[in-house]
Amino acid sequence: MEAKLLYETDRCLHCGSCLSVCPLVNAGVPGNPKKVGVYAARDMRKADYFTTTPFNCTFCLACVNACPVNLPTPEVVKRLRGRVKRPDSIEQLVENVKSSGNIFGMRNDERWIWSIELDFPLEEKIDTKAEVGYFVGCNSAFAPSLSGIPVANITLLERAKINYTLISGEKCCGIPLAMAGEESVLAEIAKSNVEEYKKRGVKVLVTSCPACLRAWREVYPRIVKVPFKVQHATQFIFSLIKRGKIKLARIDRKVTYQDPCELARGCGIIIEPRLLIKETGALLLEFKEKGLEAECCGGGGLLRATNPQTATRLALSKLQEAKLLGSEAIITACPACKQNLLKAGGDIPILDIGELLLTALPSNS
Ligand code: SF4
Ligand code: SF4
Repeated sequence: MEAKLLYETDRCLHCGSCLSVCPLVNAGVPGNPKKVGVYAARDMRKADYFTTTPFNCTFCLACVNACPVNLPTPEVVKRLRGRVKRPDSIEQLVENVKSSGNIFGMRNDERWIWSIELDFPLEEKIDTKAEVGYFVGCNSAFAPSLSGIPVANITLLERAKINYTLISGEKCCGIPLAMAGEESVLAEIAKSNVEEYKKRGVKVLVTSCPACLRAWREVYPRIVKVPFKVQHATQFIFSLIKRGKIKLARIDRKVTYQDPCELARGCGIIIEPRLLIKETGALLLEFKEKGLEAECCGGGGLLRATNPQTATRLALSKLQEAKLLGSEAIITACPACKQNLLKAGGDIPILDIGELLLTALPSNS
């Protein structure tokens, strides 16, 4: 693997395109994607030099998108994170996943705490046979400020009369471990999560977290056969609306969409969220940089755990731009984006796209 990375990084043209788009470099934080890519991969023993640097990366993929030779800088950063002494906050997160199955170290059977906000009992949907599975993800399951995400998505599935299931054995998707440079239990997690949905006869798995989506689509298939389709909630819900299974009323609101890096650059899902916003009748006021060129909000790569000041600074820049656009809400499609934008403060509402759709759901349809 390291030999492959060395080979890859030797292709660097030293053009500097990655530097101009890196949100951390632009925020003046020590670090240099070009140097990480070329020098660190060449001699991993120099990793000590990058003791703090590899954790100053949001895995936003902007460098890869800008690189004329598609150099996998974030992959090198991940390798480095596995080589240096990890900050205590990251060490704790790794231990939590290993011991509890979730990043917070909470009791894993409390994954359904958010469901008290539903106006129907969720119990009968857990561990049942169904064609559609919903993977909640740790952030949405445990962070009180994000409970609206699973509540909205489950309400939309109910409204469309979809037969769906959630699994009591859900474990962290494993991406936070990979981001921490710790891959030792990834295979075990992948096999367990796949088996749980397979047992229930699931044919389509839906998740509202782009990082979870990438785990299911890119990481798990390298470990175990994933015998069903995996979609982001924006794709699945859009297909339900197109099939007439969900009817929306028109809402009068000016909104701005923050493309989550992992969804746009990582999965190429750029159109569906915008089409969903259009379905609500809301007026979409776009950020200057969007889609593949979208600026990172600072919520990825575990940056909030290691460098909260910079994570906040990047988020504030998005909040400010949205305000200047005259936007009344920032819409995103990622729990980490929503959380980071919320933690930055400000008086503009931050909603997941599912939550926006909920506001357009007629009460009696
Ligand atoms: S992934 Fe994003 S934050 Fe990390 S080095 Fe590349 S551009 Fe910078
Ligand atoms: S954009 Fe790619 S080729 Fe150019 S300096 Fe960065 S890593 Fe090297």
